[in-house]
Amino acid sequence: MTAPTENLDFADIARREFDRAIPFIHPLDGLKGMASWLFEPERIIKLALPVRMDDGYVHTFRGYRVLHDNVRGPGKGGVRYHPDVNEHDVVALATLMTWKCALAGIPFGGAKGGIECDPKTLSKDEKRRLTRRYISALGDDIGPHTDIPAPDVYTDAQTMAWIYDTYSMMHPGQNNLPVVTGKPLDLGGSLGRDSATAQGLFYVLEHMVDMGALPNIPTLSGADVAIQGFGNAGRHAAKIFASAGSRVVAVSDSKGGIHDPEGLDLTQVEYQKDTFGTVVGTPGTKELGPKEVLEVPCDVLIPAALETQITTENADRVRSKVVIEAANGPVTPEADDMLAQRGIPVVPDILSASGGVVVSYFEWTQNLANERWTESEIQERLKATMYAATDAMVTGRAAILDRLDFYRETWKEATGSDEDLPRPTLRTAAHAVAVGRCRTATDQRGIWP
Ligand code: NAD
Repeated sequence: MTAPTENLDFADIARREFDRAIPFIHPLDGLKGMASWLFEPERIIKLALPVRMDDGYVHTFRGYRVLHDNVRGPGKGGVRYHPDVNEHDVVALATLMTWKCALAGIPFGGAKGGIECDPKTLSKDEKRRLTRRYISALGDDIGPHTDIPAPDVYTDAQTMAWIYDTYSMMHPGQNNLPVVTGKPLDLGGSLGRDSATAQGLFYVLEHMVDMGALPNIPTLSGADVAIQGFGNAGRHAAKIFASAGSRVVAVSDSKGGIHDPEGLDLTQVEYQKDTFGTVVGTPGTKELGPKEVLEVPCDVLIPAALETQITTENADRVRSKVVIEAANGPVTPEADDMLAQRGIPVVPDILSASGGVVVSYFEWTQNLANERWTESEIQERLKATMYAATDAMVTGRAAILDRLDFYRETWKEATGSDEDLPRPTLRTAAHAVAVGRCRTATDQRGIWP
C-alpha cells in the first residue's frame, strides 16, 4: 500500500475545491478581490469554558463557533463534541456549510461550532453543564436570525434541548424555538430529521438517474449498493435504497465490513449491530477490512463514515459506477480526478449530504410559524429541494462545458497562465454554482458602506 500523494488536511481541501471553482464563475473580472472575501470566515469565536465536574474538579474546555458567511441569511451549522475539535477544522466545516446552503437554495449562510472534549467520558450532567456554559458564553452571537446551531458528531436531540432551554432562559417572553434545530419532536423538532441526510441523498441519485445524468445506471431498482459506515447516515441509506428495490451488497463500521454479492439481509445486519456493536459477524456474510468495502464491485458506492477515505492511494481500486458522498469530504479532489478519468462520477457532499440541513430549515420555518408539517409534506418539500439543487449542479456543469473554451481563454488572460483549465468535475460545478450564488447576493447587497 502506498501513501496518498495529496495534502489530506480538511481546510486545505476546502481551499483547493474553492480555487478550482473560481475560474468558472462568470464574469470573472467582476470578482475583483471578492474571492478572498467569499472564502474568509466572517467571525471566529474562541471560548474558555470552566465546568465543575462530578468529582468537584473544575475543568476548562475550549469551545468554538465560526460564522463563515451570512450574506444569504443567518449562519447555520452543527455543534461537534470531540477530542479533535480545533479552530482550523471548525472554519473548514463552516465554509462547507455556506456552499451546502447556497446550493440547496435555502436562506442560510454557513456556520459550525464545537467543543474540544471527550464526550464518551463525560456524564450526562457534565455534558449538560458544558452545553449550558457554552451557550451562555455565546450570548447573542447565536439567535433565530443570527446563527442557528444543530447536531453534529456526538451531539444529539438532548443537547439541542439544552441549547434551546439555555437560550430561552436568557431571552424570556418570546418564541425561542427557532434558535436551534434537531430538537426532540416534543420540543419543536421536525418529523423526517433523523433520516433526512440519507433520504436527501437518495432523492439526488434518483433524480440524476431519471434525468439520464448517469448513463451507466439506468435504474436504481436492482442496483448493487455498498456503504461505508453504518451510523445515522449509512444505516438509513441502506434501508431507503433497499426499499427502492436496490440490493445492499456490502456495509462496514469502524470494526470492519461484510459482503454478500447476493444482497445482505438488513434485518439481520441491524440485529448484529444493535446486539454486538458491529455489523461484523452477521451470519452468511464474508468479512472485509473497514476500507475494503470501498473496493467491492457495485453500481453505487456511498461513503458514509469519515473524511478522506478515497484518496490517490486507493481511487484506482474503486469498482463502482458512481460514488455519492454521505460523509463530509470522503473523496479528495485529486481522487475525484482519478475517478473521473475512469468514467466514475462523484456526487459531492455539498449536494448529496445536504438533506439534513434542508430538513433543519423546515424545522426552523415550522418553529417561526408555530406549525407542524406532516411527514408527507416534509418528504414532498425535501424531494423538491433536492431535485432543484441537483438540476442546478447538472445544468451548471453543462453550461460550463458549453463555454469551456471561453472560460479557458478568460482564465489565461486573467492569470497569464498558458495551461488549460481541466474539465470541471461535478464537485467543481457544484462549488461554482454555490460560490456564484453567494457572490451574486454579495453584489446585490453591495459591500458596506
Ligand atoms: P455516526 O456516528 O452515526 O456513524 C458513523 C459510522 O461510521 C459508524 O457506523 C462508525 O462505526 C463508522 N465508522 C467510523 N470509522 C470507520 C471506519 N474507519 N471505517 C468504516 N466505518 C467507520 O455518524 P453519521 O451521523 O452517520 O455521520 C457520518 C458522516 O456523514 C460524517 O462525515 C458526517 O459529518 C456526515 N453527515 C451526517 C449527517 C447527518 O445528518 N447524520 C449530515 C451530513 C453529513
